[in-house]
Amino acid sequence: MAYDLDSVRSQFPILSEKVHDRPLVYLDNAATSQKPQCVIDAYDDVYRRVNANIHRGVHHLSNVCTSLYEDARKTVASFIGASDASEIVFTRNTTEAVNLVANSFGNKFVNPGDEVVLTVLEHHSNIVPWQLLCQRRGAKLRVVDIRDDGSLRLDQLGEMLSQKTRIVCAAHVSNVMGTVNDVRQIARMAHAVGAACLVDAAQSVPHFAVDVNDLECDFLAFSGHKIYAPLGSGALYARRHWLDEMDPWMGGGEMIDKVSFAGTTFAEPPLKFEAGTPDYAAAIALAEAIRFVQKIGLDNIAGQDEALARQTIDGLQSIGGIRIVGTHGPHSGAVSFLIDGVHPYDASMILDKMGIAVRTGHHCAQPLMERFSIPGTVRASFGVYTSKDDIDALLNGVERVKQMFA
Ligand code: PLP
Repeated sequence: MAYDLDSVRSQFPILSEKVHDRPLVYLDNAATSQKPQCVIDAYDDVYRRVNANIHRGVHHLSNVCTSLYEDARKTVASFIGASDASEIVFTRNTTEAVNLVANSFGNKFVNPGDEVVLTVLEHHSNIVPWQLLCQRRGAKLRVVDIRDDGSLRLDQLGEMLSQKTRIVCAAHVSNVMGTVNDVRQIARMAHAVGAACLVDAAQSVPHFAVDVNDLECDFLAFSGHKIYAPLGSGALYARRHWLDEMDPWMGGGEMIDKVSFAGTTFAEPPLKFEAGTPDYAAAIALAEAIRFVQKIGLDNIAGQDEALARQTIDGLQSIGGIRIVGTHGPHSGAVSFLIDGVHPYDASMILDKMGIAVRTGHHCAQPLMERFSIPGTVRASFGVYTSKDDIDALLNGVERVKQMFA
């Protein structure tokens, strides 16, 4: 154990809740994470002490709140290695960040006959915005396959890329399988044909250190609520030249320079892409969540995650009669599986009665389910507070489920 797990766990009030009279074993972190007291306090503090709408005010509270919001932007920028805070656009979540790029980048740079390349393992939020764009612009969507072990067919990506490719969009980590894609290689391959690259980092940023310069990507999106921050916080990283070249997606207050009926000029990035009052309380608390994970250490978290995934996979394999979906390791943050002869919904409902929260279904990745010809999986996903005992409880639970269906 590279960090003091008991001390980390003690900072999450919800972990002392009982579920069906059992201690809570929360293994649904890929859907959303629980919040430590410091994040709850930071959020609460905005409303208790400093709340006032940002940017537009000249009064004291507005200035304090604006500074906290812009400091949060700097914290996000340095957390993911952006060279400048102006490259961070605050969004509600990953979904909004991807939609922003699909609209602002897509409407300007994707033309009839052009191609947008995705992978078959994407979350719906990195599929549907691109489908809508392609329909709007008369462009073609192309999809890179995986191997049966869940690894991405980079060879197929290489064959697919051409002068027609405008952007390649890929998840850093599969939210279903926990498999890790080589997004730096994907970015390099995209750039070699003059295309841009968007990384969906929703499942990587909470689990290991991510650096946008190291990844060489043009865009990177993540959700605050998956990294111990409040709902409604998230960010898009975009290289500054794209933010300068792209037109705004949404119009409104905050994003303008001058408005008249003769025409409107826009604020400089990133504000050009932040129309309306943002959830500044969530953004400020996101910065606190980042400081929280940095204090634990991203490398420590990554090591712990990998050990938990190993324990889960080894344990499931030794039970027998279990199919791991996506065996290509190392896994980061999540493991999906199916129990022979047991519908995933039945398995999850029985586990729930034991206080074990896992997610069941297609995990917003229906094309991936179709690729494996399965209706869904049971997914266990980990957070900084996940213990070996949690995994033991899951494995005992799975054994019980198997006995009940024997
Ligand atoms: N991308 C991935 C890989 C995800 O796992 C998720 C959520 O589970 C999303 C995108 C969408 O995140 P949000 O609903 O926070 O926008």
